[in-house]
Amino acid sequence: MKVKQMKKYFNIIFIIVLSYFISTGCAFNKTSSPDLLVDNQQIATLLNPETLRSDCDTLLITCIDYRFAVANQGLINETLKLKDNYDHISIPGGIYNLVTPETRELLFSKFALSVKLHLINRVVIISHKDCGAYGGSATFGSEIAENETLCTDLRTARALLIEKYPTLEVNLFLESLAKEGAEVKVHFEKIP
Ligand SMILES: [Zn+2]
Repeated sequence: MKVKQMKKYFNIIFIIVLSYFISTGCAFNKTSSPDLLVDNQQIATLLNPETLRSDCDTLLITCIDYRFAVANQGLINETLKLKDNYDHISIPGGIYNLVTPETRELLFSKFALSVKLHLINRVVIISHKDCGAYGGSATFGSEIAENETLCTDLRTARALLIEKYPTLEVNLFLESLAKEGAEVKVHFEKIP
């Protein structure tokens, strides 16, 4: 009888100790993770109520390259004054996918959603130098050759878009990184 009782008490103590370690383990995980989504917190971003419409004016097409991401937002939001007024397709190589026949339909199908759902009337295309989709600047052999290829592709993309949607306005930009003292800046060139 005594042995049975001791076993019972041992089992209870074992369960208490085990649950202590499990709970402290969970608590440790919670406090060690700074991830807001893991903690299920809400993140809110303020939008301008005047610009909350079911449509927008412009579609922006860019490469995914992180080096140009902030500058691209600056161009579209500040310089072109299109904040809260554009869709954005970001895909490795940008319009390289439009001028390449094998991937053209993929980009066109995504592009059609922006036209149908948001009734855009303008497309802004930004291509950048040293793009990995082209193999980087080194592939071209010279800066002039890279410039010519990228400008030709931009104009081809514009022609393809206008052929399908004749009323669209299409603006072309070519961007590059330039060292200015200790800083590296992104330069934009508007391509006619
Ligand atoms: Zn790129």
